[in-house]
Amino acid sequence: MSVARKFLLAMSTNAWLRERATRTAFVHRSVSAFMPGERLEDAMAASAAQQQLGIGTIFTKLGENLTRVEDAEEVTRHYLDVMDRAQTAGLRAQISVKPTQLGLDLDNECCYWNLQRLVDRAAERNTFVWIDMESSPYVDPTLDLFRRTRTRSPLVGIALQAYLVRTAQDIETLIPLGSAIRLVKGAYLEPTSVAYPKKADVDENFYKLGVRLLAKDAQQAGCLLHIATHDIALADRLSAFITEQNVPPSSYEFAMLYGIQRGQQLRLARAGQRLRVLISYGEYWFPWYMRRLAERPANVGFVLKNMVSGG
Ligand SMILES: Cc1cc2nc3c(=O)[nH]c(=O)nc-3n(C[C@H](O)[C@H](O)[C@H](O)COP(=O)(O)OP(=O)(O)OC[C@H]3O[C@@H](n4cnc5c(N)ncnc54)[C@H](O)[C@@H]3O)c2cc1C
Repeated sequence: MSVARKFLLAMSTNAWLRERATRTAFVHRSVSAFMPGERLEDAMAASAAQQQLGIGTIFTKLGENLTRVEDAEEVTRHYLDVMDRAQTAGLRAQISVKPTQLGLDLDNECCYWNLQRLVDRAAERNTFVWIDMESSPYVDPTLDLFRRTRTRSPLVGIALQAYLVRTAQDIETLIPLGSAIRLVKGAYLEPTSVAYPKKADVDENFYKLGVRLLAKDAQQAGCLLHIATHDIALADRLSAFITEQNVPPSSYEFAMLYGIQRGQQLRLARAGQRLRVLISYGEYWFPWYMRRLAERPANVGFVLKNMVSGG
């Protein structure tokens, strides 16, 4: 992992910097490359626009590590409302939630029941709930949350990170459940005791895990793979496997983030591939934004200079 990436990921959890940066107009402008606005209405307008192009949406309200049960309740109610409003607006939209946004740090059961309320509403609104994967200490409780929920409903999926050594094993336990899995490289600062430090190894593991999730037994179990990457070479490699092996379109979709690799998003949509773009909104964007910068440290010097000078 590059020094710049490590530095940015360490900063993503710095409260002083968050406080200062979010008051800075320049940073606000830079963030707008990755999110259409802070309000749900902004996200819904962007969703409607991409739907015209054949691109589906996953909505996520930014926020994590909540410290009050009341706030987790508010987030849950917010997402219930999002599903209602998306259906009324005719949007082909799903939602994606972080367990610590539903209260995982505070009370496991409360988090579980908040999630069940979302999944039950998803059934009424003909949609789907994704569970984000946060940093490695959360993997076990998040998998538990997913497994328990999956026994109640098929309308739930989970993100798994290719940078974690354990993910190959986790996938083997999830395939028999017919799981929907969003495969990502992983966005957090992780020690080498749990994560592959070299990008080339993460990329190769992503490919192997993708191939595993597209195998016949996974298809027969009813698994769905979200190929969630902006790495075009990797997506092309998996597409070649899909063509070669005749994997049915019902077994996979592509997923990307709003504002990243827009050209590739349009290419996939034009080619008739199933693609969902995750649109983030909300005021608590600093840690998430720093993780996005860490993915491409090349253009970050300028942003940092302006942050510190208050520009
Ligand atoms: C739909 C979706 C959901 C996600 N959910 C999670 C989650 O739950 N948990 C989690 O840990 N991570 C999540 N991630 C983030 C993921 O882990 C990676 O950090 C992120 O996608 C970057 O990795 P990459 O696969 O795009 O490959 P990379 O090798 O990082 O990027 C490939 C290329 O894409 C472009 N690119 C990538 N990122 C950026 C950027 N920020 N700005 C500009 N260009 C960029 C660059 O051209 C780069 O060379 C999610 C990603 C997606 C797409």
